[in-house]
Formats: sequence, structure tokens, C-alpha cells
Amino acid sequence: MKIVIIGGVAGGASAAARARRLSEAAEITIIERGSDVSFANCGLPYHIGGEIEDRDELAIHTPDSLSKLLNLTVLTNTEAISINRDAKTVLIRDLAGGNESHLPYDKLVLAPGASPIVPPLPGIDLPCVHSLRTLQDMDRIKGDLASSKSALILGGGFIGLEMAEQIHRLGKETILAERFPQVLPPLDPELSLDLAKDLTANGIRLHLSENLTSIEPGLTACFSSGLRVKTDLIILSVGVRPESSLAKDAGLTLGERGHIRVNPYQQTSDPDIYAAGDAVETLDLVLGTYRPLPLGGPANRQGRTIADHIFRGDKALPYPGSLGTAIVRVFEQIAAVTGHGEPFLKSQGIEYRTVTINSPSHADYYPGAETIKLKLLWSPESDRILGAQAIGKDGVDKRIDILATAIRAGMTIDDLCHLELCYAPPFGSAKDPVNIAGFAACNLRDGLLKPTYGIPETGSQIIDVRPAAKSASQPVPGAKNIPLAQLRSRLSEIDSSQPVFTICQMGKTSYFAARILQQNGFDAHSIIGGAHLNL
Ligand code: FAD
Repeated sequence: MKIVIIGGVAGGASAAARARRLSEAAEITIIERGSDVSFANCGLPYHIGGEIEDRDELAIHTPDSLSKLLNLTVLTNTEAISINRDAKTVLIRDLAGGNESHLPYDKLVLAPGASPIVPPLPGIDLPCVHSLRTLQDMDRIKGDLASSKSALILGGGFIGLEMAEQIHRLGKETILAERFPQVLPPLDPELSLDLAKDLTANGIRLHLSENLTSIEPGLTACFSSGLRVKTDLIILSVGVRPESSLAKDAGLTLGERGHIRVNPYQQTSDPDIYAAGDAVETLDLVLGTYRPLPLGGPANRQGRTIADHIFRGDKALPYPGSLGTAIVRVFEQIAAVTGHGEPFLKSQGIEYRTVTINSPSHADYYPGAETIKLKLLWSPESDRILGAQAIGKDGVDKRIDILATAIRAGMTIDDLCHLELCYAPPFGSAKDPVNIAGFAACNLRDGLLKPTYGIPETGSQIIDVRPAAKSASQPVPGAKNIPLAQLRSRLSEIDSSQPVFTICQMGKTSYFAARILQQNGFDAHSIIGGAHLNL
């Protein structure tokens, strides 16, 4: 069995390693255009910022160590030029000498990844304008940063935010520009506000809704609004494009956005050619449709699926699909997402319900508890979870991982209520934030909680149920303060002929207040997320 793998990093190296574990006899060849294989691309920003001090930590394997450990042929600085599906060969070119040769295969694996988008704008190819994908890109950025006082990062997605944090860590003036009106577009707008606040609080100059139009020598970035940013170095972090031209030229089926289409065993439209990673479309586990998801986890596990199918056929575990589970740390804040958020569900015309809760990362009486803001989205038809997002300083990864597992298992909001999770005061609470999100969702479904999103319009009857001092220090416009403990004795102060909206700090006490009011005949609504989210 001759297996040829194009691309030797996440998906490709993973396919090669699993293939070797399943067959000592297979002839496995990796073709890699760059000079490195199996390196930790996700770690690149952290070496630039100095958190990962030793560059060698990122080179998980050298071509030599990989080849020796797995008995592979590893051809680096070698590019796959074309595929001849009839002859079952790949034309490869040695980039140093220019020699070309045809490599025969029984099974071909495409794991060429995605390349950073470089918008075709004047000045985009000036020195000191960089993208980040390889170890060499990282070295160039690190080199230029040494003599830079400031850096502009274009794009406030996961990699852009990581780069902003790391460059700021080096003591450089850091500017971040994003074309959307928020940072981290996969996060719902109201949650991303906390990230934006944290960025500016840490001294990052943030420019939202800004479209780059050109870069002038010198180095000045010009935006359509008229904004001009003078800086020493620019990092483009505006998304990636699948490297699917080999597949396209070979006549393989591509999806609408140019990604390679595969079946659950990662086979392309040619059953002897497999594909994995950033270059493919992945089944969306929530919607059952296909979409690109350029993430390290899916790439690695899809590579493994390929080797399993080559050697184990139908006994192999098919790749089930992805959720887009992702996380980023920006200074003290950690934001994570799984499944879908509100703007996306809305754009697809999918019905959803949502609650946002604020809950401590562990028992609030034990030192160090931090508030987690957790938003849950579910289908009102099936009660199944469609997505979850969280932001906070601690415990965010654990909750989103639990909810990703819950979505994968097809769980409903009722299932969340009684998930039995680790609890001792330093680690969690007797009612974990995930349980609380389940309770809140069920209360909403069952009509016990009437939610209101945002502060109601002027003239509405709003009751602020926080303690008087808190209410005075952070007033809610147009609200009357009746602390929860006094509510039962002051019901006569509330007009029962019109709806009443309760608000507290985090969204929990306002629910308690609304329950009191509802049971006393008021049409009471609780403002989701409280003053914390809405003021
Ligand atoms: P890659 O790992 O990019 O490998 C593709 C390889 O194929 C490349 O080395 C390329 O040179 C080679 N190649 C392409 N075409 C040819 C050809 N014709 N001939 C020969 N070789 C070819 N994901 C996360 O989930 N979490 C993170 O924290 C995270 N951080 C990231 C940080 C950075 C800076 C970057 C760049 C990416 C990050 N990612 C992260 C994304 C993750 O790295 C990718 O999703 C993953 O590497 C994709 O794997 P892949 O095998 O498809 O492609």
C-alpha cells in the first residue's frame, strides 16, 4: 500500500502517524512545501510574545525525527504540483533544485490547509506587512518587532486577538482594527463588549467598523472612514482561504466556497483520494449542513479518520462533524464558543430561545471565584442545545467543553439541569453554572421566567431590586429602586395595570422578584443579564 500525503502539519502528520500504527508494511510519503513538518502553528503567537521562550518547543518533530520515529519518507521543500487520477500519480517539484518527478499512490491524502487572506490593496506587499502561518513568518515578525515601537493588527478574530495580547506583552504600542463593529465575530455582540473593554483597559487602541483601503510607505494604514494609523509593523489576520487548487484542477468536487467536499470517512469525490483539515468542508453537527471550520482539533481528528478508513474500511469510526468549539484568552478575559450564536441562527431563519446567566466559577464564598457570563441557545421545538458562549476570568473552558459534549450527545435543556459535575468549594458550586443555565432555560420554556432582553424603552415601569446603595451608584435610567427584601411589603407602590420589568445586577435576583410579582398578579418580566450586561 503506497500512501502519499500532501501537507505535513496538523491533518497530514496525524494521518501519517495513525497509518503507521495500523500498518508497518505501508509505504508512507509526506510531501511538504515548507521546511518544517508537524510544527505547533497554534503556538506561534506565544513565541512572538515570549510566553513560549524556546523556539524548539514549537517544532514538535523535525523532518528527520518524524521520518525515523514513524519510518516515513518525508520530502520537505517539495511541492505537489498536480494529480493524475487515471495514472494514480502526483507530480512533485523539489523547490530547491527544481527537479520534478511523478510519485505513484494507492491512496492519496490531501491536507494542504489554508493560506492567510492577503487583500489586494495598494501597499499590501510593503516590507513590515506580515501574515502568520509558518515558523518562518513567526521569525520575520519577531525580527521586525525587535526594532518596532508599535504594531497594527488587522482583524480581531482569534489569531488577531492572540497577537494583540502578545505584542502588547512586549511593551509595544498595539493597535487593533476590525471591519465588523465588534471583536471576535463568532461571539454574540453583547458578550464581545467585555472583550473590547478589556482590550482598551489594557491600553490597546481599538478601531471597530474600519475597512483598510491602502497602506502607504512609511508605514501608514488608511481606512475607508478616513482613519490613518501610523505604525512600524502590520499583521494581517483577516481570515484564511482553502488551498484547494490541486483538488480543483484534479476535478474533485468542491463546495460553494471552494473547500473540498468529503464524506464522513473524509473521502473526496474520488474514493482513493482523501482530504482533511482547513481545506475541507465539515459537517455542521447542529444544522446538518456543510461549512468550513479551520480549527486544529477537527484537522487532527480528520487525519486520523482517514488512516482508519484506509486500513479498517467500514469498521473505522466516521468523522461525526464539528461544532466550531473555540477559545481565546485576551489578558484576563477568556471567551469561548461552541455551536451557533444568535446572529448566525437569525440569518439562517432558525428558531431559537436564549438565556444568559451570570454565575461564579466556583463557590462564591471560597476565595478567587470569578463571574462567568454564560449564554445558552436552544431549539424551542426539540429543546436541544444549538450553541453556547461564555466569557469570564476562570472556568470558561470547562463549561463550554461540557456544553460542547452536551450538544454532541443531543442533550436538551432538561438534561443540563441534572448533569452531575465536580463540586467542592475550590472547583465548582453545588449548582454549577451549566445546571443554572439549564434551570433558567427550563424556567423560560415553562413560562416561569418572562425574559426581556435589554433595558425597556423610556416610560416602561422598571423596578431595580438591587440594594439601595448599588442602585444609587449605578442607576438604571427610569427605574424605581425597591430592594428584593422589601418587595413583598411595597407591592402597593407598583402599578398592576401595566407590565413591570425587574432588574438586578446579574439577572438572578430580578427573576426572584419577577416570581414574587407574578404570583401577586403582576405581568412581570425579568431583564436578562441584569445591569452587568445591560448598563
Ligand atoms: P496546516 O496545518 O496548515 O498544514 C498544511 C500544510 O500543507 C502546510 O504546511 C503547507 O505548506 C502544506 N502544503 C499546502 N499545499 C501544498 C502543496 N501543494 N504541496 C506540498 N505541501 C503543501 N486552531 C485551533 O483550533 N486553536 C488554536 O489555538 C489555533 N491557533 C492558531 C494560530 C495560528 C497562528 C495559526 C496559523 C493557526 C491556528 N489554528 C488554531 C488553526 C490550526 O492551526 C489549523 O486549523 C490547522 O493547522 C489546519 O491543519 P491542516 O493540516 O489542514 O493545515
